[in-house]
Amino acid sequence: MKLALIGVGQAGGKVVDALVQYDRLTQTDFIVDALAVNTARADLMGLKHVPKSRQVLIGLSRVKGHGVGADNDLGAEVTAEDVGEVLSVVDDMAVHEVDAFLIVAGLGGGTGSGGAPVLAHELGHLYTEPVYGLGILPAKDEGGIYTLNAARSLQTFVREVDNLILFDNEAWRNSGESVESGYESINTEIARRLGVLFGAGETDGSGAIAESVVDASEIINTLGSGGISTIGYASVELDRPKRGLLSRLGGSAATEDDGDAMNRLTSLVRRAALGRLTLPCEIGGTERGLVVFAGPQDVLSRRGIERGRAWLEDETGTMEIRGGDYPVESNFVAAVVLLSGVYDVPRVKELQAVAIEAQRDMLAKRESSSTALDDLLADSGSDSLESL
Ligand code: GDP
Repeated sequence: MKLALIGVGQAGGKVVDALVQYDRLTQTDFIVDALAVNTARADLMGLKHVPKSRQVLIGLSRVKGHGVGADNDLGAEVTAEDVGEVLSVVDDMAVHEVDAFLIVAGLGGGTGSGGAPVLAHELGHLYTEPVYGLGILPAKDEGGIYTLNAARSLQTFVREVDNLILFDNEAWRNSGESVESGYESINTEIARRLGVLFGAGETDGSGAIAESVVDASEIINTLGSGGISTIGYASVELDRPKRGLLSRLGGSAATEDDGDAMNRLTSLVRRAALGRLTLPCEIGGTERGLVVFAGPQDVLSRRGIERGRAWLEDETGTMEIRGGDYPVESNFVAAVVLLSGVYDVPRVKELQAVAIEAQRDMLAKRESSSTALDDLLADSGSDSLESL
């Protein structure tokens, strides 16, 4: 499936950068074009794979290239003011080749949090292609303002996109890692999951043809129109000699029993759906699902794919589960599970509750501090000062 990517803010830009890198390294070719939008010049300069011609600095007259400092109202305002600049770059893209737009942003900050819903709204009006969002939730220890930003952005963003895929930094924090190296491995994980999912249906150059192809329409139908999604992933290395070497030597791999291949796929789909999801949730509360198996064609057992799909149907309790394969030359087999329209998500409920508390605290503080300043500067006794 072909995508046009738009990263907004620092996290949005870095994740788009990681996706472009993945696309190039694996030669998947699912990204038609990629754009990074920011109010901070320094963040754009840090990008390695999004070309300068695809970087748009907005809000220059207001914030002089220094960013909006986690003020997402300001992020939304400057994006709305300068949206024409972003749209003219989008206009320059080969949109006729694109199956969908994907807008990526960290929801806890300022530019991405405020700007992503504004861009989604504009693109939704201008183009017939679906507009999806990839929203990154802040970790809990980032504090109240980030939580409040994320909760407010989430409720707007989800209404402006055709589907919002969420990634929760909290669920992916690894203790002992620095924040930066942590983000790097997290961004690689995001790129791998989205790469296998959206890469399905695109060629890997090997000429292999999938038996039960996952094409763009299956992904679009699974994402549906509206709601929140999460993605699971699991992979296993194949225990066999490298295929390239074998074919060069004129040998052939011992054909594996179909039962083994089938068991491998069913175990992979279990691990993908019950393991760490991009957004942890109860998988029983899912409206639609899709499972994609990627790997060498000879191990993508047809019965395994069907069994895996049926297992996910049982586990989620929904009949709308699609499945298919994605043949790629690799020594690994992977399963990607897309769960769409998830509604039993404790993390989102918790985020909202903490945000409401943070909002109440901030308003109370604001009121009391203005009274406190009046008290502090109040005339003492009968003497009064004349203002300058
Ligand atoms: P903005 O530039 O104003 O949009 O804000 P940022 O994108 O810097 O930050 C928003 C949130 O995104 C932060 O609170 C972090 O939770 C998260 N974040 C920042 N950088 C990264 C990154 O590289 N990867 C991931 N997964 N999350 C990030």
